[in-house]
Parts: sequence; structure tokens; C-alpha cells
Amino acid sequence: MNEECIFCKIIHRQIPAAVVYEDADMLCFKDIHPAAPVHLLLIPKAHLDSLTHADETHADLLGKMMVKVPQIAREHGLNAGFKTQINTGKGGGQEVFHLHIHILGTPAP
Ligand code: 5GP
Ligand code: ZN
Repeated sequence: MNEECIFCKIIHRQIPAAVVYEDADMLCFKDIHPAAPVHLLLIPKAHLDSLTHADETHADLLGKMMVKVPQIAREHGLNAGFKTQINTGKGGGQEVFHLHIHILGTPAP
């Protein structure tokens, strides 16, 4: 755990969040300032500053997260599709330095 990191604090339930999925490796919760009707953040439980800090040892974890994205999207009614976004570094618009995948979309029948 990174003591300075708000997403680590969410993982350890030190600050509240609307958690929608959790397993041993990852946590998914609602973005506090949603930019779409459904706006979720999927994060690894192990602190990783950004995609820039990933190496081969993270390949399995990142693969599991990518496979989980469409499952979570489906559970939230994003049947017509969805957007994913990973902001990386200050130049990439990253504000929270714990790797996260944005999942954005509008529920469709
Ligand atoms: P970034 O720009 O780093 O890719 O996105 C960070 C995202 O985290 C933003 O969309 C912001 O609304 C969200 N966020 C920041 N702080 C919190 C928080 O304390 N709780 C939740 N649920 N989302 C947060
Ligand atoms: Zn963290």
C-alpha cells in the first residue's frame, strides 16, 4: 500500500467508494465525477503508479484486467459498446497515480 495514494485508501476501505466488482487482484468502483452515465474505474490492488511503470511481471495482471473489462461493462448494461481509457503521466492527463482503466458508456437495450 502507498500511504499517499487515494486509490490504495479505497482498496483498504479507508475512504468510501461505490465498489461494483472485487477479486484478489483488482477492484472496480464508480468514478466520483462521472463523465458518462456509466463511468467506472478498474484498478489493480497492487499499487502501480502508471502504465509507464509496468513491466513483464505485470503482464498476467494486466491481461486479467483487460479480460474483466467487457464482463463488468456487460453487467452495467453497456451492450452497445463502451470506451476504455488509460491516462498515463501528467502529459497524458493522469491525475491519480495508481494505474486505472476508465470504463465509460451509456446503457443500451
Ligand atoms: P485520471 O485523470 O487520473 O485518469 O482520472 C482519475 C479519475 O479518478 C477521475 O475521473 C476522478 O474523477 C476520479 N477520482 C479522483 N478521486 C476520486 C475518489 O476519491 N473517488 C472516486 N470514486 N473517484 C475519484
Ligand atoms: Zn495506490
